[in-house]
Amino acid sequence: MNDNQLLRYSRQILLPQIDVEGQEKLLDSRALIIGLGGLGSPAAMYLAAAGVGSLALNDYDVVEISNLQRQIAHGTENIGEPKAVSARKALERLNPDVRVTELTSRLEGAQLEQEIARADVVLDCSDNFTTRFAVNAACVRTRTPLVSGAVIRFEGQLAVFTPGVGNNPCYNCLYADHGELAESCVQTGVLAPLPGIIGSLQALEAIKLLTGVGEPLVGRLLLLDALSMEWNQMILKRNPRCPTCAGSA
Ligand SMILES: [Zn+2]
Repeated sequence: MNDNQLLRYSRQILLPQIDVEGQEKLLDSRALIIGLGGLGSPAAMYLAAAGVGSLALNDYDVVEISNLQRQIAHGTENIGEPKAVSARKALERLNPDVRVTELTSRLEGAQLEQEIARADVVLDCSDNFTTRFAVNAACVRTRTPLVSGAVIRFEGQLAVFTPGVGNNPCYNCLYADHGELAESCVQTGVLAPLPGIIGSLQALEAIKLLTGVGEPLVGRLLLLDALSMEWNQMILKRNPRCPTCAGSA
């Protein structure tokens, strides 16, 4: 680390659990962020600010005016631009230390698995179940840690999955793979700061996984009801008949 980096990350290095060693782990890490919308914007910005050295940004949408209410990596001047490009510019402004890769097409099949295998941690910041199940399955196959966030209306949820470690569940153990849950904030609305809260927590959990600090939110589902400002936790169990992870170690 150079002097500039020691200064830039000094408030993190001051934490004895992080120290210079933890900061170097972050600088050597690669995170894949799927979706640069309401969740992915704050998640990517915090990971870049915190000095995660390599960030791959995947989004095949372009910035629209209705996104700007909550997708804070994008500005009015970015309308019409691919979200991965607009977010890359925001992250480079924030921290030129970080190497940002734009992935502007829909990642599927072998390409999705390849990108996930390259990452030390994956943040699922997408808004649809098709992507969530595909990302989870590729994380299980490659044993890549997954930080999953979701928001709708006034509710948010967060969970961390570490496939291949002990008897931990996967996302598919939690949700069966069918379409009836497929509503999104496009149809139902969402209050602006809520994805900011959950996306920031996704960045926090990713940093804990990358540095090995603390207890990640594995095997637990954290639920936020913002209207009553109540947080709840559910314990998640592995489904022995899970179509994705049953039979894998
Ligand atoms: Zn499973």
